[in-house]
Amino acid sequence: MPRARNIKPAFFTNDNLAECEPLARIMFIGLWGVADREGRLLDRPKKLKAEILPYDNCDADDLLYQLAKYGFITRYVIESTAYLQVLNFTKHQMPHHKEIASVIPAPDGHPQITRHPYIVPDKTRASVFKRDANKCLKCGTSEQLSIDHIQSLAKGGDNNINNLQTLCSKCNSAKGVAIKDYRVTNVEPTLNQRRANQATSCPSESLILNPEPPILKTESMQSPRKLELESELEVELQKKKVAIRLPWIDLPFEWEPFCQEEMTWSKEQSHSAFKSFYEYNNSADCKTPLRKDWFMAFKNSCRNGITKPNVNLKRNTNHGKQKDYDGKLAIAQGMCEAS
Ligand SMILES: [Zn+2]
Repeated sequence: MPRARNIKPAFFTNDNLAECEPLARIMFIGLWGVADREGRLLDRPKKLKAEILPYDNCDADDLLYQLAKYGFITRYVIESTAYLQVLNFTKHQMPHHKEIASVIPAPDGHPQITRHPYIVPDKTRASVFKRDANKCLKCGTSEQLSIDHIQSLAKGGDNNINNLQTLCSKCNSAKGVAIKDYRVTNVEPTLNQRRANQATSCPSESLILNPEPPILKTESMQSPRKLELESELEVELQKKKVAIRLPWIDLPFEWEPFCQEEMTWSKEQSHSAFKSFYEYNNSADCKTPLRKDWFMAFKNSCRNGITKPNVNLKRNTNHGKQKDYDGKLAIAQGMCEAS
């Protein structure tokens, strides 16, 4: 289907073009709309006449000949197929960034100029569709699925699978070039579900029912600190500073120096503080469940005394080295020893 293109004022004053007869000039304009984003099309005069000059009694082949003679187009043959290149097309036209890449080989000396390699390789497309369960991540339909670039190519995005998501063509065009990651909102129930499962399966969850303090076990040091699958993507997004849910279920390694050096917490206390931070940010009370910089939020919360280790932890820590960070500590200890 022909596309909308620009006509610059210089078109009307170009003296070389004036050497071509008026229908050739109209043919020339028509070619831009039929051409792909590189300015290429199949050289089929009869078909082009039907598309561009359906009501004129003319010889389309001759019109194309005139345009080629005066240097506006190149007609060439590759493997017995005739093609046509509109010269300087990419200089004058700005094809929509979502317009598909050219599938027509370039003529000699006219390399591929497309700024954005829009076409996503078939293998990648298939992987994205599979990952997203063959459904539009926004509306859930399975019809007319397309691949959307979360960060558009025009804005520097790429064809990496982490930058691709499945949207139906309707949701895709509604999204435009906005950066919206529907995978994040879509995986929320799964993540919450997993977190809920994780929480209930933790034997030290309840202080009342279980006298053991909620210290994270040593083996958690080797186990992944973030949820698998979706969270891999989330951690990537967090690096790119996209507002997402807290992607970690345990204190990230990178945050440890802050806890130990600035907050002077032991390892156990640091993990305990993170646990309370995690629980709050996954609770219904949390007003900002999506954040761009979780580490900053954590640091601020710790510095303001909102996020802190659970006092009961003290029982298992090294008494000599630990700071009495909370007045309740001594009381809690006393209670523990008394009981
Ligand atoms: Zn949709």
